[in-house]
Amino acid sequence: QQKARRDNHPFLLAEARHGHGNMQADLQTALEQVLDSNQLNMCYQPKVDLRSRRVVSVEALVRWPTEHALAVATNILIDTAERCGLIEMLTMRVFNQVLAQQVAWKNAGMEMLVWVNLSAHLLSHEQLPKILSRALDIWGIPAAAIGLEITESALINDIEHTTDLLFELKDLGFHLSIDDFGTGYSSLAYLRRFPIDELKIDRMFIHGMTESIQDKQIVQSIIGLAHNFGLPVVAEGVEQENTLDALEQMGCDQIQGYLFAKPMPGEALIDWCHNFHLTR
Ligand code: C2E
Ligand code: MG
Ligand code: MG
Ligand code: MG
Repeated sequence: QQKARRDNHPFLLAEARHGHGNMQADLQTALEQVLDSNQLNMCYQPKVDLRSRRVVSVEALVRWPTEHALAVATNILIDTAERCGLIEMLTMRVFNQVLAQQVAWKNAGMEMLVWVNLSAHLLSHEQLPKILSRALDIWGIPAAAIGLEITESALINDIEHTTDLLFELKDLGFHLSIDDFGTGYSSLAYLRRFPIDELKIDRMFIHGMTESIQDKQIVQSIIGLAHNFGLPVVAEGVEQENTLDALEQMGCDQIQGYLFAKPMPGEALIDWCHNFHLTR
């Protein structure tokens, strides 16, 4: 049984990558069903501030329903949604689940900034700011309680349009983050131009830090660059104490990673926050 579980996953990954017709169709059908029946799960992963030693926000990460026969990794889930024209629907499902969760946390006495990932495909969607605002109104949550994480590579497709869109989202009150920074070859001029609130260093560089001097230097450069622009820096994918120490010495502002917490269900977060102490 364990073998079956282990094999299931790489098989799906390989088939989806190589564009096997049936597998693609099966994935699409399964995703349509999951969206129709509103079965997506959400997990939340804390971002910890190194100066105040507190949880300052969480990132919402979507999960395929655990009870479902297929075991689809989140990357495949997102790829499928983008390929099949379902990403807008998926994003709205995610957004509404996040807002419902915020209402539940609020009722339990906890206020928490939640970062939501936005797919590159949505940046060309004219109605995006309007659709997001409408959902906020329905749930009675202010835009300032939401951050939007946008991957660096998504931003450089159509700079003029992207700049306008970011300003529109910023004016509405959303926090904005550039995700997976360091992988998208954006020029420094854009950083100055975009109304963003933080940079998130891609976890590839964070993992590389333990072995590679070059990766360490890249991380150090990104932190310096961000600080020159007055932007705080988040490191994602921190798994080891020595990586945390190195990042702290480099002046990194916030940390996210398995070292502190894996993504967890919304109900688990309140207790986790109460029990969290960064004791160093
Ligand atoms: P991302 O936004 O860069 O998210 C970070 C990924 O790193 C997440 O993978 C997270 O679970 C994982 N991670 C966090 N800490 C660690 C660590 O210490 N070690 C390791 N090895 N991994 C860590 P996940 O949840 O599988 O998500 C993958 C990607 O899928 C995300 O990358 C994001 O681009 C996308 N995604 C996730 N949820 C959504 C969503 O609701 N909407 C959209 N459009 N994209 C999403
Ligand atoms: Mg992200
Ligand atoms: Mg990221
Ligand atoms: Mg990443």
